[in-house]
Amino acid sequence: MTTAYLDYNATAPLRDEARKAVVAALDVTGNASSVHQFGRTARAVVETAREQVAAFVGAQPSEVIFTSGATEANNWVMRKGWSCVARAEIEHDSVHAPLKAGAAEVVNVSVGSDGVVAAGDFADWALRTTHDAKTCAVTLQMANNETGVLQPVADVADFAHAHGIFMHTDAVQAVGRERVNFAGLNVDAMSLSAHKIGGPKGIGALILRESTALPAFISGGGQERSRRSGTENVAGIAGFGAAAAAADRDLGATVDIAALRDRLEQGLKACAPEIEIVGVETPRLANTTCFIAPGQRAETALIKLDLRGIAVSTGAACSSGKVSASRTLQAMGIERQRAECAIRVSIGHGTTKAEIDYFLSVWKALYRGDKIAA
Ligand code: PMP
Repeated sequence: MTTAYLDYNATAPLRDEARKAVVAALDVTGNASSVHQFGRTARAVVETAREQVAAFVGAQPSEVIFTSGATEANNWVMRKGWSCVARAEIEHDSVHAPLKAGAAEVVNVSVGSDGVVAAGDFADWALRTTHDAKTCAVTLQMANNETGVLQPVADVADFAHAHGIFMHTDAVQAVGRERVNFAGLNVDAMSLSAHKIGGPKGIGALILRESTALPAFISGGGQERSRRSGTENVAGIAGFGAAAAAADRDLGATVDIAALRDRLEQGLKACAPEIEIVGVETPRLANTTCFIAPGQRAETALIKLDLRGIAVSTGAACSSGKVSASRTLQAMGIERQRAECAIRVSIGHGTTKAEIDYFLSVWKALYRGDKIAA
């Protein structure tokens, strides 16, 4: 069966470079904390990967702390014991859930119909808050996982720092799709996930400014300079490093991704002019198209596309089997009925023109009501 994997924002296919690095590291016997030569070999694998990840995001190797993924990195920062956290309403669940469970006052910053937060709303809050600035944090994602819309993180970081407030960004969807520079962004902490850039699943990092005190979230044997305990996932870390180096190299090719995305969007519009591309007028990732096809319930379309070997997501859900109305689209003022017709196509390093054309041909048949055979 012809297939088209167009769900890179859920997870990207493993890159060859990452596979090789993972397989090689699986045979490294030593514990990276052991002083003997076996341990030193494992340590070297970890430190090479740390350098690769640091170079990829413009950070110092000492600022890279490996975690089990971005969910852990986001939880770590959100659970610090802040008295108040200002966050955008379109953040990922791994930001929302720990805040909901915690004691901090949560300040909701809304987005406009373009999907972008008003940076000034963070500034207004920073001016108004009665909390001690040192106990406050701001978190703002760099790019939205559903729409690809980019957020003014550097501007918000400037406001936050002008008031002495901690600034975190979830850069999971932005890295590898946009050039991200940790030092230039002026944030204190940044969450990353390997599997969105072609690395293995279950590994990520918190990039943390050297001078920032953030108590360990997971304590024990004192690995990662006592900032994140647990025997290092050497194979995962090696795969993350290799994927970061490959993604870094590929960043110059973003133009090709944009050309594929344009081909897709032109094809959708040619199929039915009433199809709406969410965030089309707004700066957004080159790899993400979220579109609303009126009257075509995304949940049903997804199944029909799946029967034809095509993987996309509904705008309504990004985690396993969960179908609820998209918080992001509703926050943009898109009513529930239309949000339920939103489909996300997300592409990346392995996407071909043939996959886009295959998707368009199946989509056209589906939208015109032709029968889609399994
Ligand atoms: N933040 C965003 C914006 C994401 O899209 C995801 C993954 N869906 C995460 C955080 C969580 O990352 P991980 O899968 O590494 O836990």
